[in-house]
Amino acid sequence: MNCPLCGRSRIRTSRLCWSDCPELLIGLFPMRCRDCLCRFFKWLPQVLISKWIDDLVGWISAALHNTK
Ligand SMILES: [Zn+2]
Repeated sequence: MNCPLCGRSRIRTSRLCWSDCPELLIGLFPMRCRDCLCRFFKWLPQVLISKWIDDLVGWISAALHNTK
């Protein structure tokens, strides 16, 4: 998942606010780019899958690190 503005991949979930309600209702979740601080919306399944992959990669690298 990349930032639509700068194209970098250092994306995190953004804090929810009341003005996000219409987007949340149609399944969009607010994200923020760590590099340019741009705020944008992504489909929730895409957010969850990306987060799951990040967790999995973190878990695998921690497991590999522990075996050394
Ligand atoms: Zn950006």
